[in-house]
Amino acid sequence: MTIDDTIKEIESVCTYCGVGCDIVGMVKNNKIIKIYAQKDGVVSQGKLCIKGKFGFDFVASEDRIREPRIRKSFLEKNPKIKAIIADKIKPFDDLFVTCDLDAATTAAAMKLKEIKSTYGGDSFCAVGGARTNCESAYSFQKFCRETMESPHVDNCGRICHAPSLKGMKETIGEGASTNPYADIYNAKFMLVIGSNTMEAHPIIANRIVDVAKKDNALAVIDVRETKLVKYAKYNCVIPYESNLLILNMMAYVIINEEIYDESFINNRTKGFDEFKEKILNDPYANPDYFKDIEGYEYLTKMIPNIAREYAVKDSMIFWGLGVSQHLDGSHAVMAITHLALMTGNVGKHGAGLMPLRGQNNVQGACDVGCLPYYLSGYKDAPVTGLMTPHMIDAMLDGRIKALFNMGEDITHVHSNVNKIEKAMQKLEFVMVQELFMTDITRYADIVIGVRSAYEKTGVYINAIRRLHLSQPLVQSDLPDDWEVIKLLTEKFGGDFKHKTSEDVWHEVTEVSPNHFAGAKYYRLKRHRKRGMQWPIHNEDTPILHLLDFRTDDGLGRYVYKQYQPRGMVQEILNKNFYKKSLDGFYLTTGRILAQYNNSSQTNLSKKLNKNYSEDILQASIEDKDILGDKVILKTENGQSTVLSVKFSNKIKPRTLFVTYHHAKSRVNTLFGDEADEFVATARFKSVRVTVILQ
Ligand code: SF4
Repeated sequence: MTIDDTIKEIESVCTYCGVGCDIVGMVKNNKIIKIYAQKDGVVSQGKLCIKGKFGFDFVASEDRIREPRIRKSFLEKNPKIKAIIADKIKPFDDLFVTCDLDAATTAAAMKLKEIKSTYGGDSFCAVGGARTNCESAYSFQKFCRETMESPHVDNCGRICHAPSLKGMKETIGEGASTNPYADIYNAKFMLVIGSNTMEAHPIIANRIVDVAKKDNALAVIDVRETKLVKYAKYNCVIPYESNLLILNMMAYVIINEEIYDESFINNRTKGFDEFKEKILNDPYANPDYFKDIEGYEYLTKMIPNIAREYAVKDSMIFWGLGVSQHLDGSHAVMAITHLALMTGNVGKHGAGLMPLRGQNNVQGACDVGCLPYYLSGYKDAPVTGLMTPHMIDAMLDGRIKALFNMGEDITHVHSNVNKIEKAMQKLEFVMVQELFMTDITRYADIVIGVRSAYEKTGVYINAIRRLHLSQPLVQSDLPDDWEVIKLLTEKFGGDFKHKTSEDVWHEVTEVSPNHFAGAKYYRLKRHRKRGMQWPIHNEDTPILHLLDFRTDDGLGRYVYKQYQPRGMVQEILNKNFYKKSLDGFYLTTGRILAQYNNSSQTNLSKKLNKNYSEDILQASIEDKDILGDKVILKTENGQSTVLSVKFSNKIKPRTLFVTYHHAKSRVNTLFGDEADEFVATARFKSVRVTVILQ
C-alpha cells in the first residue's frame, strides 16, 4: 500500500471498555500518534479516560505476533502435519517455528479434523469474542457449532455479566441496558450498586457526577468507598455478599410503606401479590436485621431512606461486577429489576436499568451467539453447550480435547487458575488468536496474530446496545479474526461464502432480524456519529420496554429469592469476625483506571503502566498494626505472589480489595469453583483469605 506522509484524522471507537467512546485517531505514516475524543461525540461528550487517550502504543508494539507460530513439540507429535507444511516452516525460537497463514490454518484444520473424527465434534470448545468485532464473534460461534458440530462456545461474559443477562431476561425479557447514556441527565435519583464506575466506566461516571452535583441525587452501595462516594448523598458501605439482602430490604420498605406504583404493577407486571406476600414474610427483609450486624448498624436507617427516594422519583440503577460475581448474582439482578417493576422505574425517559458491561464488544459477542445456550439474536440453541467452567471440568475428565481461544485469556482471567492450568495440560490441541503472547499462549500449539480493533472495520456494540461501525485507523497486513476462521472453514471443505466484513454482518442481520434487521452497513455508516441502538428496524430503539416488556406475554415478572446468611454476615452474627488474627479477612477484587482486564494492551503503554505495573492490595488503616507492607494471600485453592499493601480509611476493618490485572500476581488462584447457581459466573467479589506476612 502507499503510505501517506501527511497526518490523517480518522473517527472510530475506543477499543477498551463497554462505554464505547467515540474517538479520533491522528495517524502519520500509518502510525497512531494521538487519540482524542470527538468533540461532538455522543458517547464521549468530548472526553476520554486515560486508557482511551494513551492506550494505543500496543498497536505498533514490536511484541505483536506478526507471523503465525507453531509449537515445535506439536509438529514432532504430528509428523503428517509437519510433512505437509515442512517447506513453509522457518525457525523462530526454542519453542516455536513460524510460517504463513495458509500453512498455520492447514495445520490447525488437519488437527481439528483428526480430533473431530476420533472423538466427535463435541470434544472441541471455543472461548472468546468479546474484544473483537461482531463479524468475528459471529463467525467464531458458527465455526464451533456448524463446522466442528460442537455446542460448546462461550465468551468472557461468563465471568462478568452473564448473571445480568439471566436476571433481566427472566424478569423483563431482555438482558441489556434499557436507556441511552443521555437519559442519565433526565434521572432524578441514581443508585449505583457494585460498580466502581469512576475507574471502570469513567465516561459514564462523568454524567452520574454531573447529575449528582446538581441534584444531590446519588446513592452508592458497595463493600468499600469508591471514588464516586465523594458525590453521593448516601454512602452505603455494606458487608461482603449482602447485595441480595439489601435489595430485598429495599423491596420490603417499598411494599411495607406502600410507595409502589400500583397502576404500573397492575398494567405491566404479573405475580406481584405473591411476591409481596413473600417479601413481607421474609425473615431477613426488614432493615432492622442490621441492628445485630456489628459495624453496619447504620444500614437500618440508610436502606429505607434510599428505598424511599428511589421509589418516589424517576430513578436509574447502575450495577457492575460487584453485583454479578457472586453465588446469587443472577438473583441479585432479579431483585434489582423487581425494584424497577414495583415503582414503574423502567420503560420511560429518565428511569431504567443499566448493567455496566465490561469489554468493548461483550454485549455484541453475546448478541451474536457466543454463548452456549443462545444463537445469534438470543434464539435458543438447539443443543445447550458447556459454560467455560464446565468446559474446564470436561478437559480434566477427557471429554474435551481441543480449545480454540480468540482474544481471551482463560488461564488468567478465570477463577481457579491452578485447576485450569492442569486442564490445559490435558488438551491435545490449543489454538489461540491474539495480538500478543498472553498467558494462555504458554499452552498453545498454534498462535495466530490478528488485527487489533484499530486496524479493522467492524461492528462493536456497547453497554447501551449502541452499534458503532468502526473504521481502521491504520492499515495492517494481518488478518481479521473472521478471515482466519474463513480459511479454517474452507479447509474443512465448507463454503464460508463471504469476502468482506460487510458480507458477514449482512448474514448476522438476516439470521437475527429481531435485533438487527435494519442495521445494514450503509445505515451504520450514515449514522456513525449518532450510533444506533438495537433493536433496529426502520428506526432504532434508544429506550426499551416503552409499551411492553420483551417477555412472551409482554409482562414483567417477579422471581423471589430469600437471602441466605453466610460468610461475613454470619461471622459477625456469630461474634467471631472482629479479631486480631491473620486468618479470616474478606477479599474483593476489581480494576483501576489505568489498566484493563488482563493488561495485555495497557501493559504496553508507558504512560499507563508507569504507576500501575503491579497489582495493589487495599486494607483498612485500622488493621495496619497486624498487617505489614508486603503480604501473600492464601485460600484452600491457591495463593498470590507477594502484594504491596496500601492502607486506607476507605475500606472497613478486616476487609481487603485487590486489583487483578497482572497474571504474575496469581490473584485468580485464590478463587475456587464457587459460582452463580444459574450461569456459573465465578464468585470473584468475596473470598475468605488468610494473610501471610512477608
Ligand atoms: S471510558 Fe472506556 S471507552 Fe471511554 S475512553 Fe475510557 S476505556 Fe475507552
